[in-house]
Amino acid sequence: MLKLVTQHSTSTDLPVERGFTDDAPELRRIIAEQGMQQTEQAQRHFWLPIPNENLPGGVRHAFRGARWDGLASAETVCGEFVGMAQPSELDWIYFPTCGECNSRLKGE
Ligand SMILES: [Zn+2]
Repeated sequence: MLKLVTQHSTSTDLPVERGFTDDAPELRRIIAEQGMQQTEQAQRHFWLPIPNENLPGGVRHAFRGARWDGLASAETVCGEFVGMAQPSELDWIYFPTCGECNSRLKGE
């Protein structure tokens, strides 16, 4: 296992990483900070697949908060008031992400 990782990094990853460290330590620091910001932002909303009321299928909407607190209904980031239920794994796989929720969160 360890051998595999070493081989991989000597062949492709290492030259890129070394150049990155030598040429742009500042850039690396900025990217690290942005990564932290993204983590903080991710904790202010969560995604949950919501089945459509009348049609088969559903949409994965974003909601405010760190996680679903078990409420029967809640307002999505895109402004819809929807019923909440524990989603199945298939819901996670098949329901597409709500574009409106996504773009609103990106714009924040
Ligand atoms: Zn939405």
